[in-house]
Amino acid sequence: SKTESEVIKRYPPPPYTTSLLQQDAFYKCGFSSKMVMRLAQDLYEQGIITYHRTDSFNLSTQFVFRAKDYIVEKYGANYALEKPRGFRNKSRMAQEAHEAIRPTKLVDESSLNTAKGKKITINHKRLYKIIFERAVATQMKEAEIKVVKIYVKSSKDYLFETSSQQVMFDGFLKLTHKEFVAQNNRSIDIKEGAPITLTSLESKDQGTAPPPRYNEASLIRIMEEKGIGRPSTYAPIISLIQDKGYVEKESRYFIPTKLGEPISDYLSANFPVLFELAFTAHMEEELDEIAAGAKPLTSVLHEVYDPFKKQLDVIMNDGKVVTINEDTNEKCPKCEKPLIIRFSKFGKFYACSGYPGCKFTKSFLHVVSGKKCPKCQGDVVVKYSKNRKRFYGCSNYPKCDFSSWTIKDVK
Ligand SMILES: [Zn+2]
Ligand SMILES: [Zn+2]
Repeated sequence: SKTESEVIKRYPPPPYTTSLLQQDAFYKCGFSSKMVMRLAQDLYEQGIITYHRTDSFNLSTQFVFRAKDYIVEKYGANYALEKPRGFRNKSRMAQEAHEAIRPTKLVDESSLNTAKGKKITINHKRLYKIIFERAVATQMKEAEIKVVKIYVKSSKDYLFETSSQQVMFDGFLKLTHKEFVAQNNRSIDIKEGAPITLTSLESKDQGTAPPPRYNEASLIRIMEEKGIGRPSTYAPIISLIQDKGYVEKESRYFIPTKLGEPISDYLSANFPVLFELAFTAHMEEELDEIAAGAKPLTSVLHEVYDPFKKQLDVIMNDGKVVTINEDTNEKCPKCEKPLIIRFSKFGKFYACSGYPGCKFTKSFLHVVSGKKCPKCQGDVVVKYSKNRKRFYGCSNYPKCDFSSWTIKDVK
């Protein structure tokens, strides 16, 4: 066997911009982007954090120096930096006047003071905690980690490889990754050429999975990467595509609906330029330029609206109708014609294909196969609460009032 070791430095990530906060809060706290913005708005209004709609990595000089004092006091001088650490903005248009999202005072979430008559909930504190730690960590010393690679040659000359990490100096990890530090604090002692006993051998199949569907965090990440949306619009865009019924969430992943797909196809086919990513990214840039006073409003609007209006006039008069219906296996109880699923702004519903001759409709039930209502043995159906949370109910509602948040509880 052979070992190689090197000490690598790990640097803290930049402070939060809106999109980074939304992504991190999704993974660490399970918050939707809309919820992050609501909580951050409350914290901002109470003067607890800086403005939460930003794409800047800047931290004020004042904050940086107060953070240093805090770090020296709490962790010792060897955790502080001699010179403040800065981060370069990715976004070209990031306004330098703005700051990254940071706490206004150097107090952790346990000693947050609530303004009179305002409520700080546990969720406010959870969001504040990650903002606080991320901002303070930017001004802490980098961590030093010893990475040991171990190569083991079997008697048949197969080469096995593994590695281990040992935190030599925890630096900012002391604040943000306590568990990682605790789990990686031992040195391993292996002598080169020393024999190693095989305790078990496992073989695993590994396949390449297709890329997963987007969740809120990965969608915001790709939007920022492609220049779609701005700090103020990531959360509203994500809410809107759900409110319109273009996508549905299934265990935190977005799935296009039978309504969303044809609408997207139709718009892309008829307004090819308008629905290209590059067009949207370009327009976002122009809006930034208008905001900065670098471009006149009317010329940008003409550039967008004139070709759009031309194409719209053509399409409005072509007499084509897009029908978005789903076929079903059911027959209309009134006239025996097939039932179809139609869409309204309230969601899906069943309608008779004989419309307008027959006006029969009934509500749409998404039946979960293989499950029965534990109260009355009726079908279990998927329903959505007022705030769009998925739950399970009984098809015999309102006669039967069974409901459950998870399907696991239903036999
Ligand atoms: Zn009918
Ligand atoms: Zn029931």
